[in-house]
Amino acid sequence: MLGRRRTCDPPASGDRTTSPGATGPSSRRWGQADHPYTGGTAVLATKHDKLPLIAPPLEAAVGLRVEAVAVDTDALGTFTGDILRQGSPLDTAIAKARLGMNAAGRPLGLASEGSIGPDPSMPLVHSDREIVVLVDDKNGIVVWESHSSWDVVASSTSVGPDEDLGSFLYQARFPGHLLIVRPNCGALHPIHKGIASLAHLTAAVAECAAAATDGSARVETDLRAHACPSRRAVIAVAAERLANRVAARCPACGAPGWGRIDVLRGVPCAWCGTEVPRPRAEIDGCVDCEHRRTRSIVSAEVRADPGECPYCNP
Ligand SMILES: [Zn+2]
Ligand SMILES: [Zn+2]
Repeated sequence: MLGRRRTCDPPASGDRTTSPGATGPSSRRWGQADHPYTGGTAVLATKHDKLPLIAPPLEAAVGLRVEAVAVDTDALGTFTGDILRQGSPLDTAIAKARLGMNAAGRPLGLASEGSIGPDPSMPLVHSDREIVVLVDDKNGIVVWESHSSWDVVASSTSVGPDEDLGSFLYQARFPGHLLIVRPNCGALHPIHKGIASLAHLTAAVAECAAAATDGSARVETDLRAHACPSRRAVIAVAAERLANRVAARCPACGAPGWGRIDVLRGVPCAWCGTEVPRPRAEIDGCVDCEHRRTRSIVSAEVRADPGECPYCNP
């Protein structure tokens, strides 16, 4: 997948090259020699210890050094819901990266943004989708990748002060995964985050249950990256994918970030020939120029199972 394309300046007359899609300034700017980020430095906007997840793959893939810059990204939305996210996850990730870039005074930045909730295809299961972006404001491009997983711990329950939490704590993988406690109904405060010990948990439940109108406390997984190891694993995969994508360069203009931008669907049903919406090809594209290339992922002879066909299996 790919970030929002920058709007290319119209090429000056006589400035066109013959390479497909390599028009205007981009063909001159990138070239095909060394990777443009090798030896460079990007800043990662993070409050929650994401540097060990995101820096190593970029360093290994293209020799880009990544430094953390501590900025308060909570202003763009929090998992606890005290601050709601305004834009899309991608827009939020880009805004976070720019917070860090502004704080550090650098034109190259990174950030990640996670979305955890009931999976659209399986509402009883939680999924985590993590986006990692690289924003290059010197060259006017954004490269991003994402990874989704069901292997994220996102548990919640409501309890009275003396109730046994044993089976919940097992399911919530406590204390490896930290917890948040707040009043179940009525009051919004107190709220305890980053709970890592049974003593803290017991005290927090007693305090929050006393503050609640129903006498119960809400106990839930602390989803912040430093508190949730199962989420960290998803961010690490997304970062690995971003690093591979940054390393891949447009065959026309040399820009980093070449990769899949779209999927073509339509495989004929084996019985009636109607195209079922199964992917048949992927379109790779550039984040900077118009160059595109279609890659078949199923051969032309392949036919779809009639079970997938809206006519043969309505
Ligand atoms: Zn059919
Ligand atoms: Zn290009």
